[in-house]
Amino acid sequence: MPDILNIRKEFPILEQQVHGKPLIYLDNAATTQKPRCVIDAISEAYTTINANVHRGVHYLSQKATEQFEEAREKVRSFINATHSHEIIFTRGTTEGINLLATSFGNTSLKKGDEVIISTMEHHSNIVPWQLLQQRIGINLRIVPLKEDTALDMDAYRSLFNNRTKLVSITHVSNVLGSTNPIKECIEIAHSHSVPVLVDAAQSIPHIKVDVSVLDADFLAFSGHKIYAPTGIGVLYGKEKWLNMMQPYHGGGEMIQSVRFEHTTFNELPYKFEAGTPDYVGAIALGKALDFVNSIGIETIAQHEQQLTKYALQQLKTIEKMRILGQPDSSAISFLVGDIHPADMGTLLDHLGIAIRTGHHCAQPLIDHLGIPGTVRASFAIYNSIEDIDILVEGIKRIARMFE
Ligand code: PMP
Repeated sequence: MPDILNIRKEFPILEQQVHGKPLIYLDNAATTQKPRCVIDAISEAYTTINANVHRGVHYLSQKATEQFEEAREKVRSFINATHSHEIIFTRGTTEGINLLATSFGNTSLKKGDEVIISTMEHHSNIVPWQLLQQRIGINLRIVPLKEDTALDMDAYRSLFNNRTKLVSITHVSNVLGSTNPIKECIEIAHSHSVPVLVDAAQSIPHIKVDVSVLDADFLAFSGHKIYAPTGIGVLYGKEKWLNMMQPYHGGGEMIQSVRFEHTTFNELPYKFEAGTPDYVGAIALGKALDFVNSIGIETIAQHEQQLTKYALQQLKTIEKMRILGQPDSSAISFLVGDIHPADMGTLLDHLGIAIRTGHHCAQPLIDHLGIPGTVRASFAIYNSIEDIDILVEGIKRIARMFE
């Protein structure tokens, strides 16, 4: 068992009180808090090695470049990619998906081609494809959900035809906290020679994600959901696809030579990293992955799954509790009677408990469920059974007020 008390001490922000109550932070699906080692890594980078990467011959630039590329290698190893040049630093999941939609769209999609997504996607895995729909006239095909909110795999199979060019699907739903059979989704797509982008925003912090085992063609995630700073993320892509794709942004670093008549592009991964990258963010992401590795992602998964199981048990003791879907990961969405999620969120906040309410950037899913939104509690390695007890006690207290 991980020593949660000691791990928690690594997170300075968790020591504070809000509204005179100890902070119980259960909004980890939105963003995680940062351990001291990550905060220190940012400060240390600016204090000791700050210089623009790749372009400098001087000492600081070389040190910064070394650490930036070490961070890329840490990401490669963390997701078990074959090559570090398959790791593209982005601002987060959203930018990763937009990069793919634009670059893959420019290179490989034409009017009438189809992209498959699902009903439970985050807006960042819907809108970039809609923009492409408007720009070049692709069609979106949507995987429906079964009664229990699982992906309808039979319907998924039946969506493929010779116009299907890409599948883009979430690994874990940020609303339902359920894990999709992503390996099976990829196998089915590959049997039609269709590549797959995995939105791993909600899986990478909680379970082992191995792009080689999954045989994922692309995978996007955000650093800030796995203890790293905001503004840094990753798009993984298989070399063969990335080499075929056009650059996303134009500018410095992504070129080999620029003439007014003709420009040639840099090799991977720099072709997709125009401009000065967030090298300090990348270095801090590397530190966050060191932190995760020091505990072990399997240990984290086990702890969070225990928390989820316990939370489900306890939440179900509350009268008029409605749990949405089949949560098996680190997030649980629920409603209590007719209490509006926003009221529940505000009242829990007064008890020092931070949860999230609303549509969670997944309006089509919320519409499908026919509800105004949800209350979502989501867990990280520093959460404990006591946090859940306090949450459940808080909800009971609020429910009594509404009786
Ligand atoms: N996909 C999923 C499943 C998410 O949960 C989120 C963040 N809530 C995103 C994409 C977007 O991540 P970001 O805002 O960090 O780009």
